[in-house]
Amino acid sequence: MSKGTRIKCDICGFNFNDSKIKIKKQKVKDDIEQTYFRCPKCGKKYVILTTDTTIRKLIRRQKEMYPAEFTKDLTDKEYTEKVHEYNARKEEIKSRSRELTKAIE
Ligand SMILES: [Zn+2]
Repeated sequence: MSKGTRIKCDICGFNFNDSKIKIKKQKVKDDIEQTYFRCPKCGKKYVILTTDTTIRKLIRRQKEMYPAEFTKDLTDKEYTEKVHEYNARKEEIKSRSRELTKAIE
């Protein structure tokens, strides 16, 4: 059984376990969705991910990119290139999401 990660709330200092939190998804505006949880004590909102249509499309493409059957035929060099591409896209998704989170706060 996973013990989970301890989280300390920035606002009230309350310590809680991430297995206790409820992850929620909410449409914030237009096509923008947020995945977040709240501090069980003071209700401070912690945003995990903000997505819009473009980001969700990138995430979907990312998920489709890595079937195990596909990568087993690659040479080591090709595989390394794929990993680099995958990580670069992951970074792109993360930074877009971070910008979006800032933009709507
Ligand atoms: Zn709190």
